[in-house]
Amino acid sequence: MEFFKINENIVELAKRVETNLVDEFNRIDETSLYNESKVLRAFLDNRVSEIHFNGTTGYGYNDLGRDVLDKVYSQVFGAEDAIVRHNFVSGTHALSVALFGILRPKDKLMSVTGKPYDTIQKVIGIEQSTDNGSLLDYGVEYGEIGLLEDGNVDFDNIKKTNWKEIRVAYIQRSRGYSSRAPLSLEQIKDICDTIHNCNKNTIVFVDNCYGEFVCRDEPTGVGADLIVGSLIKNPGGGIANTGGYIAGRRDLIELCSYRLTAPGIGREVGCTLGQNKNMYMGLFLAPSVVSNALKISAFSRVLFEKLGYVVFPNNGEVISDIISVLQLDSEEALIAFCEGIQSGSPVDSFVVPQPWDMPGYKEKVIMAAGTFTSGASIEISADAPLKEPYNVYLQGGLTYNSGKICVLLALQRMCDKGVIKSKFLN
Ligand SMILES: *Cc1c(COP(=O)(O)O)cnc(C)c1O
Repeated sequence: MEFFKINENIVELAKRVETNLVDEFNRIDETSLYNESKVLRAFLDNRVSEIHFNGTTGYGYNDLGRDVLDKVYSQVFGAEDAIVRHNFVSGTHALSVALFGILRPKDKLMSVTGKPYDTIQKVIGIEQSTDNGSLLDYGVEYGEIGLLEDGNVDFDNIKKTNWKEIRVAYIQRSRGYSSRAPLSLEQIKDICDTIHNCNKNTIVFVDNCYGEFVCRDEPTGVGADLIVGSLIKNPGGGIANTGGYIAGRRDLIELCSYRLTAPGIGREVGCTLGQNKNMYMGLFLAPSVVSNALKISAFSRVLFEKLGYVVFPNNGEVISDIISVLQLDSEEALIAFCEGIQSGSPVDSFVVPQPWDMPGYKEKVIMAAGTFTSGASIEISADAPLKEPYNVYLQGGLTYNSGKICVLLALQRMCDKGVIKSKFLN
């Protein structure tokens, strides 16, 4: 391989892996064609023009670019309405605005996919005794239907639940940082149908982080009332500098807009400071970038499976987010892998990631992230808590080839350090 010192055996193995992936790559390309067409159609129908890239300041009244971007997102996600803003500081912030926007004291919130993502637990107030302004502090009740042993959705319990008493049903689509499978669009549709059959007014809310453009549809197209995501993940296409979106029912988007700014003001204000162009361009590129990330994910999974490692998603499991999980069996392997990913990243390739005591985690965590946008996980990145079974969560990659090189450098690093399982490469 030109420009990189990668062992011949590894290069040969990579070629064989790619031969095995022809069908899967074709499927990914077909989905990308569909989603790129959908996005382009929305740009055309909404007459996106250079004027929409002009930034506003101050109150940002009549920011055309902001209002048209909301319409483009609505069309792409098959939703009645959307708010897309650089003002959302993260995915958690967008999720928090949406939950606070639609829930009122004494309302009930019920998760149907077990414990939500770490940062959302604090928003809800799970296991949080201090007064930090969580939903719990405001008198919102929380309940949870756990996942089954095998990681599947507990439909029996969902069917038995009296949804007439519950305002919001919460679904997390992605695996997040756990080894459970992500939810397919079919499963999300089943959940929406079951709940709406019992009470059409229960709001089905989906944390859509990492899921955008992985499939042809989005949860809003199969019955979800509200979806939320981050622009430094899939829909920002690696171009958006920051931000998030909320899409779904018009009345709910209006409620969320009052929480985003202030009651009575809503979406009418909010200057865009020149961020619009990046958000448009990011959305335009997103289906293609997501397809590259999916190919890198598939490549690394098949590669490590061939070397004898357990990987997720594995045979037959649905692919509904961009994350792959590699079970590397030892701390040394995990560290070598992350060092290798960092060494092949376009930014900060020369730094060596160190395990550290990350707030909110019991074990040390090691992270590789050499990204243009700080913390962007649509760019290639790897995270791993230092605990058994030594899972590394790999996601993103703006281009397939650069991502592939990165993964091969990670494997090379494991070989150099003698922490690889397979004899085949020694
Ligand atoms: C990334 C992510 C979030 C939000 O995380 P931020 O770091 O706040 O952007 C929420 N839920 C899931 C499943 C995620 O993957």
